[in-house]
Amino acid sequence: MKYYLEKRKNPNLLSIIIPCYNEESALPFLKERIIQLLKILPMKTEIVFVNDGSTDETIFQLVNWSKEDSRIQVVCLSRNFGHQIAVTAGMDYAKGDAVVIMDADLQDPPEVILEMLEKYREGYDVVYGQRLARSGESFFKRTTAWAFYRIMKILVHKDLPLDSGDFRLISRRCLDALNGLRENHRFLRGMNAWIGFPQTPVYYNRDPRIAGETKYPLRKMLKLAMNAAVSFSPLPLRFSLLLGIVVAIIGFAVGVYALFRAFQHFVLEMPIVYNPGWATIVTLICLIGGSILISIGILGEYIARIFEESKGRPLYVVEFVKGGSVSKKK
Ligand code: UDP
Ligand code: MG
Repeated sequence: MKYYLEKRKNPNLLSIIIPCYNEESALPFLKERIIQLLKILPMKTEIVFVNDGSTDETIFQLVNWSKEDSRIQVVCLSRNFGHQIAVTAGMDYAKGDAVVIMDADLQDPPEVILEMLEKYREGYDVVYGQRLARSGESFFKRTTAWAFYRIMKILVHKDLPLDSGDFRLISRRCLDALNGLRENHRFLRGMNAWIGFPQTPVYYNRDPRIAGETKYPLRKMLKLAMNAAVSFSPLPLRFSLLLGIVVAIIGFAVGVYALFRAFQHFVLEMPIVYNPGWATIVTLICLIGGSILISIGILGEYIARIFEESKGRPLYVVEFVKGGSVSKKK
């Protein structure tokens, strides 16, 4: 795609959104790096931390920091709502003319933000971090992530960038559009691709997590993948239709074959041992039963989402907000 880009200045106020879930061991390292970063960033900056129902010391560390530094804001959610929702809360509270979304575990090197700002000045509205290498992640995590991005590109949006997570800079006008999408089951990268606007990557090496453990076990990754697939595309529904068609064709073929054998046996009285057909029947029952259940399951996923949306609940509940007195005015 060709973009019409207009050069612009750095944002007056930059917001950095960092969701935290049980990050007590990573926060001291993060704090150090952020303090370094704030020294070199050439504009006013606020950090919006979202405490996503941590059960450790995270919230105490964050609130203490916000007391020391007015640039630190803490949005404390009333329980764990999950990473995508936590980021959404941060996006709602961010006041900046541009925002950066970043993980708390320093897997996204904060210094990359400077490169992102460069692209912002060139006129891009979305600058996403694209991963070159993933050091320190298991073979399993790397292969599942690899497959994840490729399947999602097919299911979610053709513009979904490969190998990029939520680490990105978003301009105000794009953020406002993004904040208008209030669906319950969120896959922010996909929603961002749907919004459009001039987008460009910056490349970086994904460092290993600085401390603590991943908060994205396989279970949560699968949930995210499911959300991405089902919230964005009717393709899974078509898959169940396809499955039905394939099974029906197999059934028809087997039926023809059975008739042919019966014809040979009864009419032509050929000396063929007529198969009692147990295996065929059992196989067919399994095939048909299996595919019906798969189809109902897929349908159920969509209905569950309609049900969730129809309740019209807010995406998250905020317990309290502390700090962050940085104002937008110069
Ligand atoms: N996170 C969160 N809520 C959750 C899970 C994770 O806010 O329910 C945060 C977490 O604190 C971190 C970011 O989301 O800042 C990414 O999580 P993590 O680094 O564990 O994921 P991974 O990099 O292993 O995919
Ligand atoms: Mg991480």
